[in-house]
Amino acid sequence: MHCPFCNADDTKVIDSRLVSEGYQVRRRRQCNECNERFTTFEVAELIMPNVIKRNKIREPFNEEKLRNGMKRALEKRPVCSDAIEDAITRIKSKLRATGEREVLGKLVGDYVMEELKNLDKVAYIRFASVYFSFDDIEQFSKEIAKLQ
Ligand SMILES: [Zn+2]
Repeated sequence: MHCPFCNADDTKVIDSRLVSEGYQVRRRRQCNECNERFTTFEVAELIMPNVIKRNKIREPFNEEKLRNGMKRALEKRPVCSDAIEDAITRIKSKLRATGEREVLGKLVGDYVMEELKNLDKVAYIRFASVYFSFDDIEQFSKEIAKLQ
């Protein structure tokens, strides 16, 4: 990384150790140009990406909204709560795994569709009909065709 003192782009790690019970790495670095030393901390980024909606507005990922959307699709269907929670956990890990700060709402929708397809076909169709809406009826028909 760049030296914060002289901006040189060549610095080296001279010491590296685990801190915060192993949840952080503390590195001592030294600039190859000006020889200044500085410290960096490395932590896992566990925050969820923001979601870019169709109207380009960004909003924080909302787990409750995701859960409600899935539960609405799964209403009166023979799927237990544990299975829904497992699906939500998988969707969240996939979103984190993108490593992006922002993801398209479509990606979240696609992940939900994948999970619902495995959980319950009726819920999948319910969700897809809302998700694709009527301006995208052709794509919806294709999704239905894929199920048959
Ligand atoms: Zn420097």
